[in-house]
Parts: sequence; structure tokens; C-alpha cells
Amino acid sequence: MAVPRPEIGIIGGSGLYRFDGLARLREVEIDTPYGHPSDAIVTGELSGRALAFLPRHGRGHRLSPTEVPVRANIWALKSLGVRRVTSVSAVGSLREHIRPLDFIVPDQLIDRTRARPSTFFGDGIVAHVGFADPFCPALSSRIETSLSRAGARVHGRGTYVVMEGPAFSTRAESLLYRNLGASVIGMTALPEAKLAREAELCYAVMAAVTDYDCWHPTEEAVSVETVVANLERNVASARKAVYELATGDEPFGPCDCANALRGAIITAPERIPPARRKELALLIDKYL
Ligand SMILES: [Zn+2]
Repeated sequence: MAVPRPEIGIIGGSGLYRFDGLARLREVEIDTPYGHPSDAIVTGELSGRALAFLPRHGRGHRLSPTEVPVRANIWALKSLGVRRVTSVSAVGSLREHIRPLDFIVPDQLIDRTRARPSTFFGDGIVAHVGFADPFCPALSSRIETSLSRAGARVHGRGTYVVMEGPAFSTRAESLLYRNLGASVIGMTALPEAKLAREAELCYAVMAAVTDYDCWHPTEEAVSVETVVANLERNVASARKAVYELATGDEPFGPCDCANALRGAIITAPERIPPARRKELALLIDKYL
């Protein structure tokens, strides 16, 4: 029997490489115009709701933040019928009151990445999507509620700085980001958020705070050891929240994510190379 089209997609970050408890489990290998995703996508049902799960760094954590094939990942989820993507990720806190083992659902981003393709467009077709508010407000609000119900301490907004990595920041950078007003720092919310917007998917981040980066005068600077130890402690809350989110009955609030490309394609339709038009059909057919 075919698995129903999953509406909810989960991208698991550090510490969340598998998703237990799914019925009618299937592993789907998907090829995209941008190559293969990080791993096979696992689809299945949770209390009768279909969902798709993809470990961002691959099982066994083989891909660095720079190496994650984000275009393939977002494309693959879209092609399965996913409409809402929850990204689970580990972040460092840049604020005293955002403590390790808390969660944050950020509402803003600062891009400090520099080596990652961040658009599906180009090569003869140009699109400029609005990105003033980079996360879906409806999905963010549901993630926040789900985390609270899972018993987590959750911060409902904040600015997430995305750095290239893979080394952690210098102390000067950490202090700079604090001066910019940022709340947390991580390596993966971009280009995921931009590509999800271009793919007209709702996208929001469930970020697990694992450390105080390296700005804090009395706390130890971040290390893989601290990150992993704290992730193990709060991955249970993250799982509970994801279950809650996937099976919850409340309707999602309104958002405009599904129309993000309306008016965004600036290239004259007759000038779009036919091969690109065909390649991007999944995203642009409804507008051409
Ligand atoms: Zn949305």
C-alpha cells in the first residue's frame, strides 16, 4: 500500500539522526536536479499522520554544515508533497537568559555563511523572493506550543546568526554578534530557510540551546563534548515536541508561504531557457 503524501517534514540536526515510532515506515531514495539529499528520506505515519524525516548531516553525521546538499534536501521534501518543514538544530546562546537546555524558536536571521548555494534560480531565470520575515509565523507558533507542552523552557523569538563553520567562532566574533543584538548562533538555518521560501514551503526552526558559545566570562567555551552532552539531555524534549507537532489537532494559523514566488520571477517568460523551465517545473509551473 502506498504511503500517503507527508505534509509535515522534519529535518533532524545534530543528535537527531532517526525518528522512532513511525508506522508504515519506508525509506525513499530521491534524485533531484541538485543531486542526492543528505540521506534516504524516511516516511511513515504517526497516529495516522504521514510525515517525512531527513537527517541533515546524514546517518552517522558524515556531512559538515558546508557540505549539506540543502537544495537537494528541500527539493526532495517538496517533491514528496511536504508543505511544512520543521528544522531541528543545535545552537549556542549569545544571551545570559537563554540558557543551555532551553529551546528557542527564532524569528530573524543574520547570514554569515559564504560558501553555500542559496537559490534554486540562476542560469537564465531570476527570482527575488521576499525574506523580511524568514520563518513561517504559523509553524513557529505551533513549534513553540509543542515545546511548551513537551515541558521545555522555550523562547518564542530571537535572532539566529548562521555562521559558516565548521570551526566555532572566535571570542571577538561572539562578542560582535552580541553587539549586533543576536540571540543565538548556529550553522544550518541558512540556506535552508531561503530555499524553503523559494520552494513555497512553511519553514521554522526548533533550536536546542547547548552552550554559551565563547563570549561568556565564566562559562567554558563551546566544544563538541558540551554540545553532544547537552543534546543528549534535551533530545527527548525535542522528540516529544515533534510528536506533539505532527499529531496535534489545532489548525495552523494563516501564512503566505505557499505564494512566495508570486510576482518574484522577474525574467521575461519567453526568455527562460526551455531546459531550465522544465527542470524547475516543480517550483514554477503554477506561475508560467
Ligand atoms: Zn507558512
